[in-house]
Amino acid sequence: MKNTRVIFHGELESNIMLKRIYRISEGGSWNILKSGLYMCLFNLATLLPVLLLAMVANEMMKRYFGLTHESMPLWGYWGTAFLLLFAIYFTYRITYRKKYLTSTQEDMRLRMEIADKIRRLPLSYIGRHDLSDLASTVMDDVATVELALSTSVAEFVGGLLSGLTAIVILAFYNRKLAGSLAVCLPLVVIAMSLCRIISEGTNKRNREKKLDISDGIQEYLENIKVLRSSETIKNYQNRLSATIKRVLSGLVLYEFLSGFMISLSHNIMRIGLGLVIVSGSTLLISGEISLFTFLLFLLVAVRIYEPLTKACESLGVMISSLVSAGRIRDLMDYPEQQGSEMLQPESFDISFDHVSFAYNKEDVLHDVSFTAKQGKITALVGPSGCGKSTLCRLAARFWDVNRGSVFLGGININKINPDTLLMNYSFVFQDVVLFNDTIYNNIKIGKESATYEEILTAAKLACCDEFIDRLPQGYNTVIGENGMILSGGERQRLSIARAFLKDAPVILLDESTASIDPENETKIQKAIGRLIKDRTVLIIAHKLRSIVACDKIVVLNEGKLIEVGTHEELMQKGSLYYHLYSLQNESLEWKVK
Ligand code: ADP
Repeated sequence: MKNTRVIFHGELESNIMLKRIYRISEGGSWNILKSGLYMCLFNLATLLPVLLLAMVANEMMKRYFGLTHESMPLWGYWGTAFLLLFAIYFTYRITYRKKYLTSTQEDMRLRMEIADKIRRLPLSYIGRHDLSDLASTVMDDVATVELALSTSVAEFVGGLLSGLTAIVILAFYNRKLAGSLAVCLPLVVIAMSLCRIISEGTNKRNREKKLDISDGIQEYLENIKVLRSSETIKNYQNRLSATIKRVLSGLVLYEFLSGFMISLSHNIMRIGLGLVIVSGSTLLISGEISLFTFLLFLLVAVRIYEPLTKACESLGVMISSLVSAGRIRDLMDYPEQQGSEMLQPESFDISFDHVSFAYNKEDVLHDVSFTAKQGKITALVGPSGCGKSTLCRLAARFWDVNRGSVFLGGININKINPDTLLMNYSFVFQDVVLFNDTIYNNIKIGKESATYEEILTAAKLACCDEFIDRLPQGYNTVIGENGMILSGGERQRLSIARAFLKDAPVILLDESTASIDPENETKIQKAIGRLIKDRTVLIIAHKLRSIVACDKIVVLNEGKLIEVGTHEELMQKGSLYYHLYSLQNESLEWKVK
């Protein structure tokens, strides 16, 4: 039989809202809504014993006053009590399973989706955001949303629905008393809306301040050596504790405001209970209602406010989760770089065509045009901050150019999928990223499908084998966080081994060997010499002596291309390159007297 399901308009809208606000899956949002409905049934089931109690109290009073001698047999009470117990157990069990299982699954799915999204984001996004901010979205924001989904949404929907259903049913008994029960609800909604407005702003500010603290602590730990050896450590600690104090006052204010609003809502609802007592006794005395009706309303009024109070508290949690949900949405909606996954360039020449680029407002590259030919080595030279690294980032589409174009073999890289493009690039940079894993696995990152022999060959070509052999477990040695047991030169050689394994046609290289001893430097140069053969090579050059044999030298200054040529041509011109080269030669002659 075809599976048909009636969807109410309100149910559909709530489902869409949940999906949109919390970025949860279609199935997840249905399940959360269903858990709200089961919660409503649970709340109504817990109201039924109150009905039974009212009946018992009514009978007892009637018998006491000699109004009746008839009553339900004892087994009737036992049977009803047993049925009610079963209904409460069943509705609670199903609510619990639905909400916790769904929220745990959604939490896992959301974290994976965020991690995958971050991988696909352009580096421009990561460059513009604080890393602790991003980490906090993955950990804290998702945890806040999970809390809202695991309890608050279901309790809000269930509490509100069961409260309203009970009031509507009671209105059939007596409209006046049901009105007394319901009269305070609009006031509660107003109080909670006020709570939303106030707490959202405070919550946002607190979050920003908390990020300041984690940034400050991270910086403190990273620079602890420098700070300990200088006299500024006291000032630094004072600044940090001032930031922490500022957050504390914000947190206290936030807790005070939310606590105040929630207790205000509770008290407003308790006024409803008072109204039922006053109006109920008046109606009872005037004979308008029976004793049973009065008892029923009294007992229901006591019981009904519990789910409604929970609904109010849950609304508070949902409101404060909106800031986190908003941050998750901002991240997930950030546009990704698009492009074709098919790439068949005519060659692997990289051409910059009138490229201008700004990280923020001001251009750091102005109208740069040149071509790095396949099979040739092109060096980028210029004073620090002139834009050499930026050109490499643009060539790899880590950032997209603002004006002009970058081509790979005649294809505008804006039209190539970033992952497809990067399959053709290897990077050998100073800031090598290594994982807390074995040497073997760190090299393997260059090519996931590499065989043991391929990894050994790559390590040999990159001159890694001799230092690996010296390590206690050879290739199986775990190198610690970011390769802390290795020297700078050894780490760079590992990154060259990765590049050998990847065997990509384009190599982007940061040639600096500034912090490396002469033995390591010779080995690195030997390894690089083997690596760059017959590929398109773009080198960020620092030591001009090492690039005199390059096919093309591009000289930059303040983001502008100043001159292009071979070493000899540029030396003859006697312009910026000539001055930089002469300056470096002079510094080589410097010695301690
Ligand atoms: P080089 O590699 O020649 O030393 P860069 O390409 O790193 O120079 O930097 C060029 C300019 O861009 C500099 O003024 C630098 O401050 C700025 N810059 C580099 N990276 C960023 C970034 N992520 N955000 C903002 N500005 C940056």
